[in-house]
Amino acid sequence: MKLNETADPAAATQPVYIEVIFNSPAPGRYTYKLAEGMNLSVGMRVSAPFGRRKMTGYTVSVGVDPGETDFEIKAIERIIDKQPIYGTAEIALARWLADMYYCTEGEALATMLPGGKRESRMPAFEEFELPPVQEITLSDEQRRAIDGIMADDGGVHYLYGITGSGKTEVFLRTAAAVIESGGGVIYLVPEISLTHQLTDEVRMRFGKGVAVLHSALTPSQKLVEWQRIRSGEARFVIGARSAVFAPVPDLGLIIIDEEHESAYKSGSKPRYHARQVAMHRAGETGARMIMGSATPSLEAWYLVKSGRIKGETLGKRLSGGAVPDIELIDMKKYKGCISKPLETAIRETAAEGRQTILFLNRRGFSYFFHCRSCGYESRCRNCSVSLTYHKHRNKLICHYCGYSEEPKQVCPECGSLDVGYSGFGTELIESELNNLFPDLRIERVDTDSVKQKGSLRDRLDRFKAGEIDLLLGTQMVAKGLNFPGVKLVGIVLADTSLHLPDFRAHERTFNLIVQVAGRAGRFFPDGRVMIQTYKPDNEAVKMAAGGTIDAFYEREIEIRRALEFPPFGRLFRLVFRGKNAERTASAAENFAARFDTEILPKESGTEVLGPAECPLSMISGNYRFQIIIRTDNFRLVHSLFRGALSQFTPPSGVYLEADVDPVNLL
Ligand code: ADP
Ligand code: ZN
Ligand code: ZN
Repeated sequence: MKLNETADPAAATQPVYIEVIFNSPAPGRYTYKLAEGMNLSVGMRVSAPFGRRKMTGYTVSVGVDPGETDFEIKAIERIIDKQPIYGTAEIALARWLADMYYCTEGEALATMLPGGKRESRMPAFEEFELPPVQEITLSDEQRRAIDGIMADDGGVHYLYGITGSGKTEVFLRTAAAVIESGGGVIYLVPEISLTHQLTDEVRMRFGKGVAVLHSALTPSQKLVEWQRIRSGEARFVIGARSAVFAPVPDLGLIIIDEEHESAYKSGSKPRYHARQVAMHRAGETGARMIMGSATPSLEAWYLVKSGRIKGETLGKRLSGGAVPDIELIDMKKYKGCISKPLETAIRETAAEGRQTILFLNRRGFSYFFHCRSCGYESRCRNCSVSLTYHKHRNKLICHYCGYSEEPKQVCPECGSLDVGYSGFGTELIESELNNLFPDLRIERVDTDSVKQKGSLRDRLDRFKAGEIDLLLGTQMVAKGLNFPGVKLVGIVLADTSLHLPDFRAHERTFNLIVQVAGRAGRFFPDGRVMIQTYKPDNEAVKMAAGGTIDAFYEREIEIRRALEFPPFGRLFRLVFRGKNAERTASAAENFAARFDTEILPKESGTEVLGPAECPLSMISGNYRFQIIIRTDNFRLVHSLFRGALSQFTPPSGVYLEADVDPVNLL
């Protein structure tokens, strides 16, 4: 703008004031002034002095009246963006996020936005040969599901379908219908780096209108994709958890594939759940939402059962394969990590020139107490969760209520002396496999190796090409992959998650077995599935192996109802961490006592559990203690908890992490 020519002299000397928020735990909006001639709109980032530092701030309003202040209003230093990178809808969403998950608006906005510098490069769009899309004739079930979803103007739907029942096709057809009518689509997957087949398919169908928010993109590339989305150039967005924030104009549909996955919950502040954010966005915009899984979360299952969201069911396999019988192997009968039957099966498979995949539970947690003779394990008498052995205190401890007991030398169930603490480590299994099968080519793939760019795809390609005989990996490796050479699929230990001190232990174990077995039967009709477990009689294990899925959910729902765990009660978690154990513990005790006696009204339907040591009682030299609040009055406790948090000043060196609806209680 040529100020000298156009503006009147009075206006030229009147500074323009703006409001800026920062990615900082300090709440509030900060007023700055613009230097003469600076042109700025809401949605642009600025560099501004903040305290003694210079920080990147987010402009949330322009042209404010600062009123009378008794301090000097500073000027911003520089405008970072040429174009706004967010708008009022994103600012409003940040405000909701901040309120819901106890962070500042600036922290929320920073979580939503891709970082990156101003960028004028072209988008990182890989050119693809686009072969003609093969028209699939929808099954009656698929047709009915799509009609059901489209008939509803907005609304939340659950697509519950066994593995291989064609959920993806329902998602993609619904997306196409929404895009045709001028809407935009967000498609969430648990882990984008493991979904090449799906993203390739999406690109084939939707061409250049696709934005893949891939974790391998640089911040600047992400920003370019983000602007393509904002401008309406890319109307189909596919990505992991944070893609739920994509600034899609005229949002018409949000899809959450594999809804049960805990990857949808953020592990750092703000600890949002993509499902919760998606529901909020769908409510605000009137967009449709579809979640889908073969093993829904208990929360979602209950929403469908109680009629609060609509369910569509796919009950038939479309790809021909059949779910093979599942062989349960009772590990109490064997020493070591690989049982004789599994060892034999691996040898037979290799002798036929076929391949084996062995799965490990990613969330394996060692040190549970169990009896090798009868499978007994120590559980808390108040909370119905496993007790965890703490070596340094030589005690078995409940991580919900703090209950503890002496470790036992003799099994209280059967009197056996063959008791101990154990866990299965991945390295241990790999070395045992190498000892057992010196001639086999064995590779391990886990979340650590996913982080190294390319190496996962490379290894999977080599596996597909038959250059690897046995792949040892987490259950994530199975997702959406098709390896025709595979015959045998095994779970090294299905019940590692049963021993987690977590009320979701059964749910996770059940998911693991059903999902792994489902992957197998889809692609190899002559396949074998072997599940190693210490607890072949556990209900979750038995029901998963027996395929009595509805029965499992009904049973688990009743347990949750009795214990008032989600989806019946809701939880808040507050972790205190610090280098000084006593100071950290006493801060937790003070908070819990004050919250329980001074802040919570009587008869609020709320219980304060703990403080207790976290199951992971020390992380990088920090002691960790937690308080769990369980309530059937979410709104009230959410607001009381906010008040308590803002009034509570932890002693120096003690830090708090608040989590609403926690998924991970370790
Ligand atoms: P899910 O996501 O439910 O586990 P997929 O969507 O991956 O299942 O579908 C499994 C297989 O069935 C895929 O190979 C897909 O191409 C195929 N498929 C989907 N719909 C149909 C259909 N109507 N007719 C034939 N095959 C189909
Ligand atoms: Zn026993
Ligand atoms: Zn307990």
